[in-house]
Amino acid sequence: MLINAELLLQYQRCKRRPFLDIHGERRWVNTGNDLIYKLQQDKITHQKSVLSELAYEQPQYPRKDWYSAHKATVELMQKGVEYIHKGAIITDYTSNVTLVSHPHLLIKQPGQSQFGDWYYAPANIELGKRPKQEYQVVVAFHAHVLTQYQQSEVDSAWLILRGKDKGYPVDLDKWIPQMEAILVEFINSLQQDEAPEIFISRQRCSLCHWHNDCYANAKSQEHLSLLPGVTPPRYAQLQELNITTPQNLADTNPELLENLIGFDYQVATKLVVQAESTIKSHPLLLPFNYDRIQSLEFNHFIELYFDIEAQPDLNLNYLLGVLLVDKRNHTEQFYCFLAESPEDEEAVWQQFLDLVWQYPQAPIYHFCVYEFDTVKRLSKLYNTPRKYVSPVLNRFVDIYEYLIQNVTLPVESYALKAIARWLGFEWRNPEASGAKCIYWYDEWLKTGDRTLLETIQLYNEDDCKATCRVKEWLFQFFQEQSPYYPVSSQILSPKQSQA
Ligand code: SF4
Repeated sequence: MLINAELLLQYQRCKRRPFLDIHGERRWVNTGNDLIYKLQQDKITHQKSVLSELAYEQPQYPRKDWYSAHKATVELMQKGVEYIHKGAIITDYTSNVTLVSHPHLLIKQPGQSQFGDWYYAPANIELGKRPKQEYQVVVAFHAHVLTQYQQSEVDSAWLILRGKDKGYPVDLDKWIPQMEAILVEFINSLQQDEAPEIFISRQRCSLCHWHNDCYANAKSQEHLSLLPGVTPPRYAQLQELNITTPQNLADTNPELLENLIGFDYQVATKLVVQAESTIKSHPLLLPFNYDRIQSLEFNHFIELYFDIEAQPDLNLNYLLGVLLVDKRNHTEQFYCFLAESPEDEEAVWQQFLDLVWQYPQAPIYHFCVYEFDTVKRLSKLYNTPRKYVSPVLNRFVDIYEYLIQNVTLPVESYALKAIARWLGFEWRNPEASGAKCIYWYDEWLKTGDRTLLETIQLYNEDDCKATCRVKEWLFQFFQEQSPYYPVSSQILSPKQSQA
């Protein structure tokens, strides 16, 4: 069995994934994920930019023929080439396990080895900005294989991270023992008959090519990881109490959970109510935060719904979208302030401010904290006087906060898309997502294809409309649950409102 660093990396992210990569049926792999494609492209671009500064050589071998790769790499090592890109070294680990080290770079170092008075140390070029544990373990794996093969201890290894001038030195004394422990556990898991258990983690699984297969399995098992709020540590504790299905959880007294690590009264109560909500396919009001519901007032004729599209790699907020809803005249208008190039961000910011100041009483609804934080950040970046920004921020209402503090819904995620779809709202482009917009904006900058901008605008407008839909539902739900709740302008007729 061949074990490489990629498998070890994936094992640290999900114990199930490398098992499926080795033993799973390829027909269940999902293809065509734009986000995975974008990440791969970004990684290649970053690697090319690092490599363009170096005089490296590359061994020639048929793709994935690791024995030929090893032979060709050793020839370059014997020659004493300064930098080797895409080299591969293999060593036997046990009688049936062979380790393949395929670092992005092998860097010649002074010292002794079987080659003479030099040896090679590994470096990996990663897209991340931080030296995450999983990256350091992988580099320790390369150092370990090189130590075995060169018969000389490798005492240096680096991570070349995005946006950093210098390589990050990996502490091999610390990471090699940890890598060895993970490697033993990993090899052991590969020798089991069954794949490690599924745990659906939305962010991680959305970037995995086994997602469709795992999700279908999780659904058929009614796996607890599909319930929002069930994290891996909480899941482990629920398992210990033999709480293995949503029904078990719904039947549990929250007091039994509230003193466990990672739980408290609110977490325990929320999880139990969430399970009940899922089983009943029904929204439920949480038993706390009642005061907060009462303080939510919506009596305005003009409402603004705000959503931003950003390109994190460029540190750019390129689209500020606002849906203006006029309750009195029953009209809607969408304003799209779009930076066609990164330099236009300041102009777009000013256009946004001009619009929201035309309606100084209107609440500005948004979903999640990003819009609030970004407005603060843009005001600092462009030195906008506080007197223009503070009154605007005071009108912000985070629908997501109100929602998660007060209700549970029969959904698997509290993302806007999941909630709005549960309410029957559909995006006009069902393929669109925030992550895809990042990709499309990148493509627009490269190609100048205006249809990409139009697709992004449509998506942003639908996000604003979805926020409006969720807010209206939430208000109505609060009203149904409490006779004391203030009456909303959209439920009042214009005549009643004027009175
Ligand atoms: S979809 Fe999720 S659980 Fe399944 S293999 Fe991938 S990361 Fe692991």
